[in-house]
Amino acid sequence: MTHIAPTQTNLFDEAALAKTDIDAQGSDSPEHAQPSCTHQRYSLFASVVLDIPTRALADSFAYGVPDAIAKSVHIGCTVLVRFGGRLAVGYVIAVNAELKALSGAEHLQHTKIQPLISVLSPPRFSETSAHLAVWMSHEYVATLLECLRLFLPPGTTPKLKKNAEGNYELIQAQTKALEERWVSLTARGFAFEPRNSATRQRQLVDALRSGPLTTRELRVLYTDMSSAIRALEKKGIVHIEKRRSWRGGEYDTSLSSAQAHVPGQLTEGQLNALAAIEDVRQHQRDDVIVIDGVTGSGKTEVYLSAIAAVIAEGKSACVLVPEISLTAQTVGRFRSRFGSMVAVFHSRLSAGERLDQWDMVHSGAARVVVGARSALFCPLQNLGLIIIDEEHEQSYKQGSAPRYHAREVAAELAKTHKIPLVLGSATPSAEAQERCLQGQFGGQTWLRVAMPERPGRSALPQIHMVDLRKEFRLGARSIFSKQLAEALLEVVSRGEKAVLLHNRRGFAPFLMCRECGCVPSCPHCSTSLTYHERTHALMCHTCGTSYRVRPYPAMGSACPQCHSRYLAKMGIGTQQVEDELRQLLPADVAIIRMDADTTKTKDAHKELLEAFDAAPTAVLLGTQMIAKGLDFPEVTLVGVVMADYALKMPDFRAQERAYSLLEQVAGRAGRGEMPGQVIIQTYLPEEAVMRAVFRHDRTIFTKHDADMRRSALYPPYVRLTNVVLWGAQEARVRAAAERLAGLVRAVLSETKSEHSQNLPQLLGPVPCALARVKDRFRFHFMLKTPLGYDVSRVVRHALTTFGTVPDIHVSVDVDAYDVS
Ligand code: ADP
Ligand code: ZN
Ligand code: ZN
Repeated sequence: MTHIAPTQTNLFDEAALAKTDIDAQGSDSPEHAQPSCTHQRYSLFASVVLDIPTRALADSFAYGVPDAIAKSVHIGCTVLVRFGGRLAVGYVIAVNAELKALSGAEHLQHTKIQPLISVLSPPRFSETSAHLAVWMSHEYVATLLECLRLFLPPGTTPKLKKNAEGNYELIQAQTKALEERWVSLTARGFAFEPRNSATRQRQLVDALRSGPLTTRELRVLYTDMSSAIRALEKKGIVHIEKRRSWRGGEYDTSLSSAQAHVPGQLTEGQLNALAAIEDVRQHQRDDVIVIDGVTGSGKTEVYLSAIAAVIAEGKSACVLVPEISLTAQTVGRFRSRFGSMVAVFHSRLSAGERLDQWDMVHSGAARVVVGARSALFCPLQNLGLIIIDEEHEQSYKQGSAPRYHAREVAAELAKTHKIPLVLGSATPSAEAQERCLQGQFGGQTWLRVAMPERPGRSALPQIHMVDLRKEFRLGARSIFSKQLAEALLEVVSRGEKAVLLHNRRGFAPFLMCRECGCVPSCPHCSTSLTYHERTHALMCHTCGTSYRVRPYPAMGSACPQCHSRYLAKMGIGTQQVEDELRQLLPADVAIIRMDADTTKTKDAHKELLEAFDAAPTAVLLGTQMIAKGLDFPEVTLVGVVMADYALKMPDFRAQERAYSLLEQVAGRAGRGEMPGQVIIQTYLPEEAVMRAVFRHDRTIFTKHDADMRRSALYPPYVRLTNVVLWGAQEARVRAAAERLAGLVRAVLSETKSEHSQNLPQLLGPVPCALARVKDRFRFHFMLKTPLGYDVSRVVRHALTTFGTVPDIHVSVDVDAYDVS
């Protein structure tokens, strides 16, 4: 017997309902089970979002609440309802004594009001969460169900199941809370002297003198202790207590930098930032404060101090960090200040761990949450502060529906709670910069606080650019220029540490024809294939298909286009850099490689950093994952093997991203007492981005970048919305894209005159850059609309007229970042 997936919970027939034992929770009186009740019978109504994932359904439906269960129906409850002759699970987003006041009552023109059948769970989200879900659903043209699911405890969605007798019953998800038994000494226990012969009891009492232990820990330490525990419990020497165990919070690390010692004296910048945050808090405003602080200026310390003030008032705080920097080091800093009050959310948690962390927040045991973007949705009570670190990071935008941006959702959350939102970055996004320049955005005040200096004696590192064209002309063929090689040797001879960035994954990532420039691509997806030398395979990283190739220069490894045999590996991978590094450096220098391949296992990231920390002298080589947030004072050299990959991406944000990456990685140097230097190898030293990094002066490239975006009508000066359609038959997808684009154009034209001459604009439809993925053809069109323009309403309106078309899928990405 298989479980019914949540998507199918509505697959019920009327007859089954009579036999079901679902409504065992006291709502099975015939009076209330009758669907023919009229609404005059109810003194309470509920607006319910059905757990039926389809865009075609209205967002919520109104139901009558029978008196017998009225006391247990609240916002946030999971309930069982009848829908179109079937049963469905739903979530209450509003309750009201007045039917007319409820959203979802519109559909009642056609049908009679039905009763809520039963309550399946106590409240799991608050009224504020319901409000935020409704806002997100509108803003991002997503279904209310998709948005509401973000707020639900992980893995506990009730499912319906047909049992052996053919009846339906509700099963709760498998993830269950775990209890642990804690053993501690009683007051008498501390004075107790066991008989000499009772070795077990003596061991137990000794072990417990330094604090309570769980039975699990005791078992690990001394194998079986159960009889000793029982004997001493009878005598009143030890006490056993059951406590909820919170899985997933383990973040033990040997990293010294995971400790956050309270500094004796805050810098002027830190004091300014804290004063700004306090001012907003005291006046219960909802301002957004952008902390524009150079790397190592002590932004984390500002967060910690601000949170301490919030905690002291009995409130809670939410801190978002990019998934990639959610490391033992980061978590450790918060733990060392706030102890067990910290809950952690990231994508590597198991379902049970996730549930435990969620419960820890829900129960109030945790009042500080540190997590990736989804941590915004956990049930913090009495929220007092939201912080987003590395605000410019693209990972704050969700790539699947609902396609929200954590910064925008957090701003809305700040509005509802009337609390500050703090955004920290050494390279604030163009959006944050522009909003601070305007002083406001979307009805909120945006203000910038600069932290231009590092505390104490540590200074910003000196930057050197190496022109690779010159190196090449001089006949150099090594990955490392003379300057970088010498600097690396010097660092290790002085017993210091270096960080080397190489922004590419894998070994020799792609093959290219030296004669015609053709790069083999996946026949299903039109993306370049990655070459994996160990397995001699070309891999498609879009659909995962692998194609065997015979190793070059064997016969048959020919160009698919011109049949030339000069199909060569292009680009160098981190592995190749590692090999050359080993040849360069003395054998006893630890070389730690950190990339997607070496960090696959759960704790790999942490262990690699600990190894780097523990080694007397070492080089940390890695992809962009090493650029963020690492704080090792012994690092005196940062090298960038090839700075140009990031710059050459065909995207209007490429410059911003390249600058941010280089500035971030440069910031890993010279964070301690010793000065640091940065060596960047590039073919493009004249680019504005390179000059800006070289001078530690962002304005060199931002002026240029802003002018380009303003004249070409790109964010942050307009809103960019991407609508993608896909399906198996190319002609049908194209036709559907054209019809939908036409509908959107029609709605746009009604509003055109109110705004500037050029906006709003619709571009396309055209085939996507990724024209084909998994044998589905993809077309898209883009919308450029003025700021403050309700683009979501326009698209939603057009989609309603468009309806559903068989085998045509539509995705809407408001404020799109990735338009491939
Ligand atoms: P950022 O997050 O801005 O890159 P961090 O918060 O990591 O900077 O701080 C960099 C280093 O400076 C850390 O080791 C931190 O402990 C230390 N630090 C922060 N504030 C102070 C201060 N006021 N005085 C001395 N050291 C400080
Ligand atoms: Zn060729
Ligand atoms: Zn593919």
